[in-house]
Amino acid sequence: MNKLIDGFLRFKKNVFPQKRALFRDLAGAQSPTALFITCADSRVVPDLITQSQPGDLFICRTVGNQIPPHGSAPEGGVASSIEYAVHALGVQHVIVCGHSDCGAMNAVLHPERLKDLPSTNAWLKNAAAARSVVLENYVGLVDDVLLHLLAEENIVAQIENLKTHPAVAARLARGELQLHGWFYHIHSGDITTYDAQAGRFAPLDHGSATATPPRRIYHFSAGDAA
Ligand SMILES: [Zn+2]
Repeated sequence: MNKLIDGFLRFKKNVFPQKRALFRDLAGAQSPTALFITCADSRVVPDLITQSQPGDLFICRTVGNQIPPHGSAPEGGVASSIEYAVHALGVQHVIVCGHSDCGAMNAVLHPERLKDLPSTNAWLKNAAAARSVVLENYVGLVDDVLLHLLAEENIVAQIENLKTHPAVAARLARGELQLHGWFYHIHSGDITTYDAQAGRFAPLDHGSATATPPRRIYHFSAGDAA
């Protein structure tokens, strides 16, 4: 605990004064660019890996970066975070970020390890679709490869769940929101991103495809309905 308190004291003494104007601007309002939904894993640090400043990212962390579909029993805090970021704050991007060596995904592959963790076991039922995709379509692969594939499939599955949330669906339809699936590689610091049209993950760069290409709704005039 002393390490954390020492860290705060250094922040207050050295870092805060350098960003005093930024914090003053942020004191009464926020206007983040993106909602960043990622795993609770301590090795995934969204602000660090995107070099973001306070106020840039609205972050929601859940074990296994799970996003329960709208209307499902345990959606609670995640649904509220999505609604607030997308509807109230008007973020333009939602990033669902999984990662390598994910303990939650490992547990999804080996549910017997969750027998003493009933809450986690129930929560990770949201990964059932991804588990099924991997176990039924990739037979005979070693555990490490299955774990990687599951973490990728889980990102894709959680993006599908994300689309069921009303605030997301409405803004997607207006072409005002883009969804992104990222995979953070802890050992190398790389990020790969999901290209929905190609159906695969590729290195993140400017011009990388998104998980949901922008679209527009049709605009009817009164006469069109006749
Ligand atoms: Zn994880």
